[in-house]
Amino acid sequence: MGFDPVSEAKRIENEIIAWRRDFHMYPELKYEEERTSRIVEEHLREWGYSIRRVGTGIIADIGEGEKTIALRADMDALPVQEENDVPYKSRIPGKMHACGHDAHTAMLLGAARIIAEHKDELRGRVRLIFQPAEEGGNGAVKMIEGGALEGVDAIFGFHVWHELPSGIIGIRDGPFLAGAGFFEAKIQGKGGHGASPHETIDPIPIAAETVLALQTIVSRNVNPIETGVVSVTAIHGGTTFNVIPEEVEMKGTFRYYRPEIGELIKRRMAEIIDGIARTHGAGAEFSINDLVPPTINDPKMADFARGVAEKYGLRHGDVAMSMGAEDFAYYLQKVPGAFLTLGIYNEEKGIVYPHHHPKFDVDEDVLYLGTAMEVALAFEFLR
Ligand SMILES: [Zn+2]
Ligand SMILES: [Zn+2]
Repeated sequence: MGFDPVSEAKRIENEIIAWRRDFHMYPELKYEEERTSRIVEEHLREWGYSIRRVGTGIIADIGEGEKTIALRADMDALPVQEENDVPYKSRIPGKMHACGHDAHTAMLLGAARIIAEHKDELRGRVRLIFQPAEEGGNGAVKMIEGGALEGVDAIFGFHVWHELPSGIIGIRDGPFLAGAGFFEAKIQGKGGHGASPHETIDPIPIAAETVLALQTIVSRNVNPIETGVVSVTAIHGGTTFNVIPEEVEMKGTFRYYRPEIGELIKRRMAEIIDGIARTHGAGAEFSINDLVPPTINDPKMADFARGVAEKYGLRHGDVAMSMGAEDFAYYLQKVPGAFLTLGIYNEEKGIVYPHHHPKFDVDEDVLYLGTAMEVALAFEFLR
C-alpha cells in the first residue's frame, strides 16, 4: 500500500475521539442502536460504501476483487449508571458504554474513512460489520443470518482490553474467551409428612447428591490439563420444617474453552441429573443450553495479524485467556479469523476499572492504533 496506516490514523485521531465521545454520551442498549447506527450509516454512505441493513446492524462493502476481508465492531451499551466525572459522561440515566463498544464503533469508523480514501489501492473487498447486541443478545447470529459472512474469506474484530497496558495489541492463538451455557433442572419426587420419609420420595437429598455429583465433572471427568467450570447457582425447594416437598428446582452455568470439553460437560450433566433421580425413583426434567461458543482464534490468522503489527511498528504481545464470553465466537465458527484486543489500561490517567464497572473508561489516546491496525489488516490481507 502506498501510505502508512499509522500516520493516516493519527491524522484523524481527533475525529475518532470525537465519535467515541458522542457515542459515549448517547448509549443505546442491545437492539436499540437506532441513533448510533444512523450516524454510522450516514458516514459510510458519504464515503461511498454500499450498505445493507440488518435491523440496527449494518453490513457495508467497498472495493471489488476475489478476496473479501471482514472487520467487525459492536455498538451496544449496558444498563449501568455511569459514575465517571468526565465531560463526555453518559447523558442517558441508567445506560452506559461500560464495555468499550463506543470505542470499537469509533475505531472502525476511522478505519472506514481511511480505507475509502484509498479505495483505488484496494485489490479486493472490505466488508465492515457494525453489529447490535453483543451484550447477551447474540447480535452476531442475526448478522450472520442477514448474510454478513457471505463471500468472506477472513474476519477480524477488536476489543479494547482492561487487562493490557495502553497501546499494546493483544493477539492470541487458539482458545481465547470461554464458551458459556446454562442449565435448569427440576427433580420431581413425592411429597409427604416430614415424619414419614418412607412414604415419600424426598427430592431434597436427591438434589443435594446431584449438586455434589455435578462437581465431579470438573474434578473427575475433565482432563486436569484442561479447564472447565460447573456452578450450581440456584436451588429452591420446600416451604416448612415438617413437609417433604414434591420437587426441587436447580439452575446453574458452565464454562469451557475447548468444544470437546463443553460436550463432555453437557453429556455428564445429563447423565448425572437423570441417573441420580432414577436411582432414587424420582423423575428429572431438565434443559442444558448453550449461550455462546468459545472464541477460538485461527492460529494462521493470529500469525498474519502479528506480521501486520510487526510490519507497521505496532506494539503487540500475548493476551491471557479470560472466562468472559463474546459472540464474535459465532463468526469464528464459520470463517477463519482472530479476535484482537487493544490495551487501554493506564494507571497515570486513572483508567484502571474493569469492563462493566460504572467507572470503566478507555485511554482515548491509543484508539488510533486500533484504527491503524484495522486498515493495515485490510490492505495486507488483500495484497
Ligand atoms: Zn461486555
Ligand atoms: Zn464487550
